[in-house]
Amino acid sequence: MPVNVEKYNEIIAELGTVTLVAVSKTKPNEDIEELYQLGQRDFGENYVQELVDKQAMLPGDIRWHFIGHLQSNKVKYIAPFVHLIHGVDSLKLLTEINKQAIKNNRTIDCLLQVHIAQEETKFGMDEEELREVFSHLDQFKNTRLRGLMGMASFSNDLSKIRGEFSALKKTFDAFRSSSDCQILSMGMSGDYKIAIEEGSTMVRIGSLLFGARDKKL
Ligand SMILES: *Cc1c(COP(=O)(O)O)cnc(C)c1O
Repeated sequence: MPVNVEKYNEIIAELGTVTLVAVSKTKPNEDIEELYQLGQRDFGENYVQELVDKQAMLPGDIRWHFIGHLQSNKVKYIAPFVHLIHGVDSLKLLTEINKQAIKNNRTIDCLLQVHIAQEETKFGMDEEELREVFSHLDQFKNTRLRGLMGMASFSNDLSKIRGEFSALKKTFDAFRSSSDCQILSMGMSGDYKIAIEEGSTMVRIGSLLFGARDKKL
């Protein structure tokens, strides 16, 4: 399935100052290169091995976002190059990211994932866990907390989705303490317009650009 260039241009025009992360998981390098040629630099991946393979093959100025669920024992593979880790959902994971950042002599930017959907299956922290992480931030010198990330319910109920995004925006406004903390990553192919209306600064869009994925990933 070819990249939907028309849709890409349409989305870019719509976004204004909102950052587009093109979610290329399961898609071939040629698709990424096609968007790269059009000027796209931010790409998102969910699987460590796939990301490592693609990073090795594709242009060095791509900003790679890790948007999936990250296991602590795999942080070391992406630590040398990852631009932003969206799904940090525990102190344990943040501790490991900080450790690997030190090893690589760099600072790694992170977003904390907040649980906003009513579904059980979505990862993320509640407010109490967020508070706990924020209270420990001082000890992580090689990670920089850039903001929050969340996923709304898979639902046709637009008011429910809007309510979840709006709740995340409120949490974001309540928690962001430093000037580093400015990214609110919310919105996917099906709900990015609502997310932007509710204050998103970064959307993660896959299937609208690259076509449907084989599996529901
Ligand atoms: C797959 C994925 C996306 C993109 O989903 P689309 O519906 O294809 O736009 C965005 N965010 C996360 C966390 C994902 O896993």
